[in-house]
Amino acid sequence: MITRYEDGVHTDKLSTRFLLPGEQPDDWKKVLADSVTDPEVLLNILNLPDTLLPGAIRSDKSFRMRIPRPFIDRMTRGDQHDPLLRQVLPLGEESEEVSGFSLDPLAEQSQNPTEGIIHKYQGRLLLIISGACAINCRFCFRRHFPYEDNRLGGDNWMQAIDYIRSQDSIHEVILSGGDPLAATDSRLARMVEALSDIPHVKTLRIHTRLPIVIPQRVTKEMLHWFCGGRLKPVMVIHCNHANEIDEQVEQALKKLRQAGAIVLNQTVLLKGINDDSGSLADLSHALFNAGVLPYYLHLLDRVQGAAHFDVNEERAKVLVNELMQKCPGYLVPRLVREVAGEASKTPIPVN
Ligand SMILES: *Cc1c(COP(=O)(O)O)cnc(C)c1O
Ligand code: SF4
Repeated sequence: MITRYEDGVHTDKLSTRFLLPGEQPDDWKKVLADSVTDPEVLLNILNLPDTLLPGAIRSDKSFRMRIPRPFIDRMTRGDQHDPLLRQVLPLGEESEEVSGFSLDPLAEQSQNPTEGIIHKYQGRLLLIISGACAINCRFCFRRHFPYEDNRLGGDNWMQAIDYIRSQDSIHEVILSGGDPLAATDSRLARMVEALSDIPHVKTLRIHTRLPIVIPQRVTKEMLHWFCGGRLKPVMVIHCNHANEIDEQVEQALKKLRQAGAIVLNQTVLLKGINDDSGSLADLSHALFNAGVLPYYLHLLDRVQGAAHFDVNEERAKVLVNELMQKCPGYLVPRLVREVAGEASKTPIPVN
């Protein structure tokens, strides 16, 4: 099953390894730069009908399509309902305005004590490293957030470090974004060095989707700055479907575990993608197989353009109850919703 798209050889599953012969596996930047951003190219690669194009072009204008090729490789050709495709293909539905779905559902734009920091919860805060993501997920609550204006540029990261130093209640710093791993290892290493010098900071957490979408991102350098220092390393990856975990992803996640990181996963419950307990159980098992435990199962943030992904709370409770029957307790994530102004994620009782 070795084919490349260029060969014009068709298989159901795109099994192409993106790497060319002799290419170094840590060339993640090249892979990132080669992401597919043109809906027409995507439809061609996947052999999908042109009827999807007008809607895709329209919605691409409000939130750009961006998909790294290793993620596309895990999609099934000719299937417009593929659970990975559905997460990233712009659809005409996104331009419908639905009441209750707003531009900034988490009211994050009013929670910045200093540029690049979102401090909402006790003891931990978000450090916004990079405005960019490697992949643009259509359901993302950040699709309207001005992250480009709110990331740490040259000088303002010293201000952010000063803020953390001044708050001795902060024992955990969460690198966030966008995707924090979209930044280079040298920049991240410098940032982590500065954080390590603050005695009350004990834990370094990274929220990222990059090891899933471009597993080559788990470089030796990264393992060094993340797992080799004083701070206890925790990574929360974001994976919504078992098909996102292929062998390369599994290897990357295992490397993180072997280097000493605790690796957890959060999932967004998404209609048409993972809203059945079988898919959720498969996901938990695939994660466990890669050394990862489930953490949160999020109800969708009510962001404009994502209403067609919404699964209501009643249905979500049924799914989690079914999941509890199918899986051991440690493979059942906590069902939560994020409510603006609350002191933590809001747990949703399932019984
Ligand atoms: C989700 C989130 C955190 C982390 O919450 P945990 O429950 O510790 O995972 C921290 N700060 C903000 C602003 C968040 O949205
Ligand atoms: S923040 Fe996460 S969910 Fe949102 S677009 Fe980036 S990778 Fe996707």
